[in-house]
Amino acid sequence: MGAIKHMKVRRDDRGHGLLRLGALVLLGLGVYSRCHRCGHDSSLDPHLLAAEWGPALPIAEVGARLRCPGCGSRDVATRPDWPALAHIADEQRARLPRAVAAE
Ligand SMILES: [Zn+2]
Repeated sequence: MGAIKHMKVRRDDRGHGLLRLGALVLLGLGVYSRCHRCGHDSSLDPHLLAAEWGPALPIAEVGARLRCPGCGSRDVATRPDWPALAHIADEQRARLPRAVAAE
């Protein structure tokens, strides 16, 4: 990875740099990837990626090893595929007692 891209990855990381493929397998989260050139995005199975490159690979470095299936670019960013905030809110609402949830 080039020095400039490495710096950008580190800056964009915002503390998620220590999160590795093995952690996403345990958390049941995918690896979200997005092409900087054409915007193609997808959620990848961390089991497959960990089997290929090992569970210790940081999520932020996965993108450097990917090629966009849409345009062939290698300029791909990756991060944990966090559940949508709306989805989390729905789950939390479902756990609340009915009287509170109605408010
Ligand atoms: Zn692309």
